[in-house]
Amino acid sequence: MTIYNAPVDEMMFLFNNLKDNKNYNEIEKFKEINSDLVKDILEQAAKMNQEIIHPLAKVGDENPCIYENGIVRSPPGYKEAYTKFISDGWTSLSCDPKYGGQGMPKTVSTFFEEMLSSASLSFKLYSELSIGAYNCILHHADEKIKKKFLPKIVEGKWSGTMCLTESQCGTDLGLIKTKAIKEKDGSFLLTGQKIFITSGDHDLTENIIHLVLAKIPGSPAGTKGISLFLVPKFNVNEDGSVGTRNGVNTLSIESKMGIKGSPTCVLNFDNAKGFLIGDENKGLSSMFTMMNLERIIVGIQGLGIAETAYQNSLSYAKERKQGKSNNNENNQTDEIIKHADIRRSLLNMKSIIEGQRSLAFWLSQQIDVSLSHSNEKIRKSAEDLVSLITPVVKSFFTDMGTEITNEAIQIFGGYGYTKDQGIEQLYRDNRITPIYEGTNSVQAIDLVFRKVLNNKILSNFITLIKTEIKEENGKIELQKFSKILENNIQLLEDFAKWLEIKDKEKKDDVSSACNDFLKVLGYISLAYTWFKITKVSLEKLNENKNFYEEKINTAKYYYDKILPRVDAHYKSAKTGSDYIMKANFN
Ligand SMILES: Cc1cc2nc3c(=O)[nH]c(=O)nc-3n(C[C@H](O)[C@H](O)[C@H](O)COP(=O)(O)OP(=O)(O)OC[C@H]3O[C@@H](n4cnc5c(N)ncnc54)[C@H](O)[C@@H]3O)c2cc1C
Repeated sequence: MTIYNAPVDEMMFLFNNLKDNKNYNEIEKFKEINSDLVKDILEQAAKMNQEIIHPLAKVGDENPCIYENGIVRSPPGYKEAYTKFISDGWTSLSCDPKYGGQGMPKTVSTFFEEMLSSASLSFKLYSELSIGAYNCILHHADEKIKKKFLPKIVEGKWSGTMCLTESQCGTDLGLIKTKAIKEKDGSFLLTGQKIFITSGDHDLTENIIHLVLAKIPGSPAGTKGISLFLVPKFNVNEDGSVGTRNGVNTLSIESKMGIKGSPTCVLNFDNAKGFLIGDENKGLSSMFTMMNLERIIVGIQGLGIAETAYQNSLSYAKERKQGKSNNNENNQTDEIIKHADIRRSLLNMKSIIEGQRSLAFWLSQQIDVSLSHSNEKIRKSAEDLVSLITPVVKSFFTDMGTEITNEAIQIFGGYGYTKDQGIEQLYRDNRITPIYEGTNSVQAIDLVFRKVLNNKILSNFITLIKTEIKEENGKIELQKFSKILENNIQLLEDFAKWLEIKDKEKKDDVSSACNDFLKVLGYISLAYTWFKITKVSLEKLNENKNFYEEKINTAKYYYDKILPRVDAHYKSAKTGSDYIMKANFN
């Protein structure tokens, strides 16, 4: 079994030193969320994740969900853990107190999301979509529906799903066939089949609330004719109690490469009673409330799994003895951590993970501002930044999760490939994250065509970084970082200009460069957060020399060894698409 120790000190370092967004600090309702309270929450979360949830990762992998006699059964121990999980209030952490939530900011709940992903992604997925459904209902449903459904979802007694995918329709949601027919009482009857539905059915909660995309006959073709419906597994009586079974049934569950403790269901809707959420034909934009947040959380999944991979690799490298290092003095076999190449590999992981955690913390401040600041203009400007960085966090973090779990297998050698140590499971569990919630390539296309070329929101982000560089604290050590960051910002601007020109001349050049652009923005975003970490570390060096020196050393590694990947991506992108489109693949 793998080990996992929640990095509470790292998280508190960010909370105490990088809560630097002026607008975030102005939000009245979060002023009471002080360092002591957050530390207390994170320590309790760490205990829960380490002691109760993490052991379930292996259990779920070895005892996948079962579908028998029309019932989906979760792996052994999941029900007991889930009962404790909800009775301790973890589902309600960031929800509105009006519906029974604890009202914690994203700056706190994002840390919790990471811990849960590190402990067991399969277990996490039972409650993850519930929070997505909660957000969608909160923002788009009428008050009657909110009152009826939200308190139970917040409490965790009912869970949620997101039902988009059909066999003929994955990325292209315009192809949805599920139909919704209006009834006299204003409700709808839904008929159709959804596939790949995470937590579509299971035995952990007394009801499951499906959020389903469907088409009302006569609505416009494609994505403009999609509406969103709330369809409960069991109908809910007027007094809020669980009533008769609705027309939703599970046909089967998938046998998968990873996340085997999470049921991925084929659901059949046969005249299932549903309620319209938001306006007719505006379903996709309402669903985006759920999907955008989910995309960030999927990125955090990649980060969380990478952290577990790193912790295990580090621990193994300190124990495993093979060969003699260059500085070997006693002529005895060395621990592999003494080999420069293993150290390089560990620093790859560490510098990416800590940079990502810091970027996720920065993003969570922006999300809190976009949702809760009193000034509309400030809210909108934060919303733009969230919109720009969401595909980066989703794709870059999950691709790096694949790189890091792969690297972990390599550090373990043959014991990484065999099942004994649980390392190969991390790779398998992470491998879905670049696929679901919109594949990473589709995220890159969204980033370039919708956000960079159309909306021009990139320039706000670049201004933010330039301001940070200008406000550097005069320390000579920091100037080397500023110079490199400035050069990379120039490259980012040049790349964006090149995309603009090519967009008018040759769209395939742009399409084939989207993944490169996303990576460039990802690496530079991490360089930005490492710059901020370095600035703080130089200022605080005397307070805790070991901790801050380590941060500065890791930042140097990131700038010298990882950031140059940006040049290769830009160079490759600029070669265009001629030979790509010419290939005939005979
Ligand atoms: C374990 C698991 C859990 C899931 N959970 C859910 C869930 O809870 N709810 C739900 O609704 N769905 C869920 N899904 C579905 C998932 O979101 C889809 O599989 C995913 O969006 C991709 O769709 P697809 O599989 O049909 O691939 P396709 O859309 O067929 O894509 C195939 C390939 O083509 C590429 N591609 C597609 N369109 C374009 C384009 N325009 N330009 C360039 N490349 C393109 C893609 O990037 C991909 O590489 C889940 C899937 C799995 C495996």
